[in-house]
Amino acid sequence: MGKVHSEVKRRILDVQEKAYVEGINMQVSSGFRSFAEQDDLYAKGRSVGGSKVTNARAGQSIHNYGYAIDFFLTNWDGSKALWNVNDDWRRVAELAKSVGFSWGGDWTSFKDYPHLDLSCGLSWQDFANGKRPNLDVSVHESKDFLENGDGGKEVTRLQEDLIDLGYDLSEFGVDGDYGDETEKAVRAFQVDYKLVVDGVCGSETDREVDKALKGHYPPKSDEGDVEGVFRIYTGVFADVKDISGAFDRLSEEYSGWTIYVKADKEGVNPSLRLVTGTFKSKKEVVYYTCAIKNLFGWTVNYKEDK
Ligand SMILES: [Zn+2]
Repeated sequence: MGKVHSEVKRRILDVQEKAYVEGINMQVSSGFRSFAEQDDLYAKGRSVGGSKVTNARAGQSIHNYGYAIDFFLTNWDGSKALWNVNDDWRRVAELAKSVGFSWGGDWTSFKDYPHLDLSCGLSWQDFANGKRPNLDVSVHESKDFLENGDGGKEVTRLQEDLIDLGYDLSEFGVDGDYGDETEKAVRAFQVDYKLVVDGVCGSETDREVDKALKGHYPPKSDEGDVEGVFRIYTGVFADVKDISGAFDRLSEEYSGWTIYVKADKEGVNPSLRLVTGTFKSKKEVVYYTCAIKNLFGWTVNYKEDK
């Protein structure tokens, strides 16, 4: 993403991870654009061939100030770009909007579906005049408990944990919204673990969930196995240094696995992922994804090879 604002980067990674948990792979195609690069882009379909790609001259795009990115989707292993503006695409836009981004698909003059920016109501003229949005970082920091009405990454995580522990979230699943169903599951957990039953996930409940997870892996039984070839995807990492350490830890713990790294073009995309091994049954995959999550605390996902 180059020289985009750090808060834009942070929030995009957040969106990417949330989308990933829902099985949507989102990638960034461009971020910061210099004035010269913007001019080159503007020339397309005008003084040079091809079709027009932008109506913005140098300085007229939020990209020129490092507050915008463009995205696209890929298939599950990142090998194929997907440009259809379908439900998954709109879901990513929705997730981005929930953390403060404006989406080009909402523009009325012309639609720019890949475009997301943190202009926060400022125009390019404002940016050109030196104004910058007030990105209040504290708003997005989590408080130290979760309750009905909360939403976001922490809630997503709690919901995943509750499901791993066998609590019922069958109606809404992992949706990142702490609603009645999540509250009911938290209450059930609190009853089972002899905690104060208030339906709020505070530090005590949180600690007990962690403890319960450490002792809990799903049974490695053959019963009800689904045949197929699966791959495990782990974590979203910000840079190569980060991922090489993760690679070592995973290789140590699970020798004999084939592990490889999926990344977009260097410098363009901050998202890197580890992909591990091939597994023949779903039970086995679930066992290992839980084990990896418990050991390393990473977001883990798996996909069936088709
Ligand atoms: Zn854009």
